Amino acid sequence: MKRWLAAGLLVLLAGAAQAAEPNRAPAGLTWQGDFSQGGLVTGEAEPGILIKLNERIVPVRNGRFVFGFGRDEPASVALTVTRDGAKGELVMLRIAPQKYDIQRIDGLPPAQVTPPPAVLERIKRENEMIAAARQRSSAMQDFLQGWIWPAKGPVSGVYGSQRILNGEPRTPHYGLDIAAPVGSPVVAPAAGEVVLAEKDIYFTGGTILIDHGMGINSAYSHLQTLTVKVGQRVKQGEQIGTVGATGRATGPHLDWRVNWFDVRLDPQRLLPKE
Ligand SMILES: [Zn+2]
Repeated sequence: MKRWLAAGLLVLLAGAAQAAEPNRAPAGLTWQGDFSQGGLVTGEAEPGILIKLNERIVPVRNGRFVFGFGRDEPASVALTVTRDGAKGELVMLRIAPQKYDIQRIDGLPPAQVTPPPAVLERIKRENEMIAAARQRSSAMQDFLQGWIWPAKGPVSGVYGSQRILNGEPRTPHYGLDIAAPVGSPVVAPAAGEVVLAEKDIYFTGGTILIDHGMGINSAYSHLQTLTVKVGQRVKQGEQIGTVGATGRATGPHLDWRVNWFDVRLDPQRLLPKE
């Protein structure tokens, strides 16, 4: 009996060390992925099924779907599955919490922490342009092919860090920062279509946004040069630009972000484990 208990405890401990607990898919769905804050899940649905996650309709195309979880996703989120208009089945998904760093940066010029009033209109316009690009829900399914690193270099900033700039708490950092010299190649980590290519955005400098389909998009910031245009289709591994320190950057690096619509995902969780 004692031995059985000890074995059970070991199994429990092993389970707790996993990134995410498995969530059983409701009838009509199969899925695979990462039920963690910042994680991405892909799946297949039988015809006639409508999926909602947190009240948002999850697009289903050719029987496939994708969704993701934000940095501060609650431990339990509601997913409803409705078949041909019948009463929906509610499933509560368990989402594994993540620990986030606190990153203090002091001694920044005050204008970098709080932008001067003269640029507020510009920032608003740029934010609207980026938000509109992220709302696209195209039929592409390039996110299914998996991901590679968009640049080579050490990780200098991770997803989710709480930033305190000159003592003032700011929005968390949603990117994966990869430090590399100015001019180093930046490649598309998955295929897709370029939906934004701007040389000079106030915060992010040279900026590219790629649509990978069904609400999955990725962003590349602080680029020195852009070698693609809006509307251009890119393959996985194809160069899109070079690393720089443009916009509000403290040194040359690539800031890489991945989103499901406006939900911020953790790019590092998409990459193959090393
Ligand atoms: Zn960054």
